[in-house]
Amino acid sequence: MRTENFNMITLALSKGRIFDETLPLLKTAGIEVLENPETSRKLILPTNQPDLRVVLVRATDVPTYVQYGGADLGVTGQDTLIEHCAEWGATGLYQPLDLRIAQCRMSVAVPAGFDYAGKVKQGARLRVATKYTHTAREFFAAKGVHVDIIKLYGSMELAPLIGMADAIVDLVSSGNTLKANQLVEVEHIMPISSHLVINHAALKLKQEPIRRLIGIFAAAIAQ
Ligand code: AMP
Repeated sequence: MRTENFNMITLALSKGRIFDETLPLLKTAGIEVLENPETSRKLILPTNQPDLRVVLVRATDVPTYVQYGGADLGVTGQDTLIEHCAEWGATGLYQPLDLRIAQCRMSVAVPAGFDYAGKVKQGARLRVATKYTHTAREFFAAKGVHVDIIKLYGSMELAPLIGMADAIVDLVSSGNTLKANQLVEVEHIMPISSHLVINHAALKLKQEPIRRLIGIFAAAIAQ
């Protein structure tokens, strides 16, 4: 008979940078994920701690899994978190720590040669393609720039190249993706890093193990 482990802590991570950069933080406390998500097709990965498992979800779904209790805690980019909370609210989501991993910046970029400053000065209306519609809308509203936001789910860089948008709002790390597509950064909107998010109810019900994990993350980033 299968029995539920009520002490089990579920940590939601997304594949790629967040997974890769969270592992060393866990390792400082001897916690290891026992399967490699690049080679395993499993979505629930055991760790060497019997009461801790990792679930692999899409980056944009991490706040949702944590908010609705599918996971007790998770690691999510601030970009994703801001968009999630703007749309769905932050009720039930405790955000105790900036883990300072997966660091990058959110920027506005335009095709090389596009007179962004001139257009802004003239009060021109700009078409902006982005996945980050709330952040972009707020940023341009605060600057008093009129924009039409075009929601895309990926490959934002393509939109200005084919004349669908004047500008994009996207994450920039090395700048190589922009360069490869003849785009230049014209505004830094904000620095971005990944944060720990925790389900409020889980924090109350499983206070001791979750507080222990928060302590492990806090100690790891202080090193
Ligand atoms: P880069 O060429 O290094 O500037 O990286 C830019 C590409 O990687 C863009 O497609 C970004 O959306 C994506 N990217 C960069 N940093 C991050 C991050 N921390 N989290 C998620 N996506 C990122």
